[in-house]
Amino acid sequence: MTIRAGVVGHPVSHSLSPLIHTAWIKAAGLNAEYGLFDVPPDDFAAFIAAQRGGVLLGVNVTVPHKEAALACATHVRLAARAAGAANLLLFEADGTIIADNTDGLGLLGALHEQAVFSVKGKTATVLGAGGAARGAVAALTDAGAARIWVVNRTLERARALEGLGPVKATGWIKSTDAFLEADVVINATTLGLGGGPGPHAPLGMTQPGCVVMDMVYRPLETQLLAEARRLRRPAVDGLAMLIGQARPSFAALYGRDPDLMVDVRGLALKALGEKG
Ligand code: NAP
Repeated sequence: MTIRAGVVGHPVSHSLSPLIHTAWIKAAGLNAEYGLFDVPPDDFAAFIAAQRGGVLLGVNVTVPHKEAALACATHVRLAARAAGAANLLLFEADGTIIADNTDGLGLLGALHEQAVFSVKGKTATVLGAGGAARGAVAALTDAGAARIWVVNRTLERARALEGLGPVKATGWIKSTDAFLEADVVINATTLGLGGGPGPHAPLGMTQPGCVVMDMVYRPLETQLLAEARRLRRPAVDGLAMLIGQARPSFAALYGRDPDLMVDVRGLALKALGEKG
């Protein structure tokens, strides 16, 4: 029997997940398919209900369904609960729907992989307070960050994250300390997407070794990362995070780790039209 899984979003045609998972499926010699499911918000709950009992093995969930995915689950794992969102739903044969969130692992993995950075005991500055920022704050807290600044245009949204960990919320105008103290700056806003202007982050104020990460990966080299490189700060890109969240998703779906020898980053860069 073909093992079926996929990614559900709206729109979703741009997703790199099928490319990444299919490369790992082929390398593992699995009889499996990983598809794309474009489901509008109004149809999401019905789509998920139809998969109950194992029609699909599971789905990765992307924008705009990550919060709704949590509500559809019968069992919510800790990472998803902390993030207030799920990027992975697993459908058990007995009808159980498990919600999990591997974005945090992707974020921490990317920081380690591209900057050999561990956040334990460090100060992190997260730009943005939406779903991705919430997941980042939960993961950074879990990994032992000493302090997490959340800088956001809408101060109330930043304040809403204060209960998640050692968070200090601020607006952009009073964000100087957030940059002076940062060991890592993470862009979790949508600014920079599609080559647009990035966040107005005064990276020149940060300490020389401060790591700069951008969750945005279209384009891969955002204005923020270009500025980080100009200032000789270690830079971490959003594709490393995307691949980092896909690895535990694959393991959860197919019961085995993906083959690390498969150059999924190379494949993704080709699809993005960027040089490696
Ligand atoms: P979201 O919930 O819509 O949040 C958007 C955030 O951006 C909010 O904090 C918003 O501030 C801020 N923002 C938007 N426009 C702004 C502007 N003009 N000026 C200042 N702030 C602005 O989005 P999300 O789901 O958290 O996603 C955020 C980013 O992370 C996206 O680019 C997404 O693609 C990326 N992401 C990447 C990965 C990966 O694997 N690489 C995984 C998850 C997400 P307000 O609160 O003031 O509106």
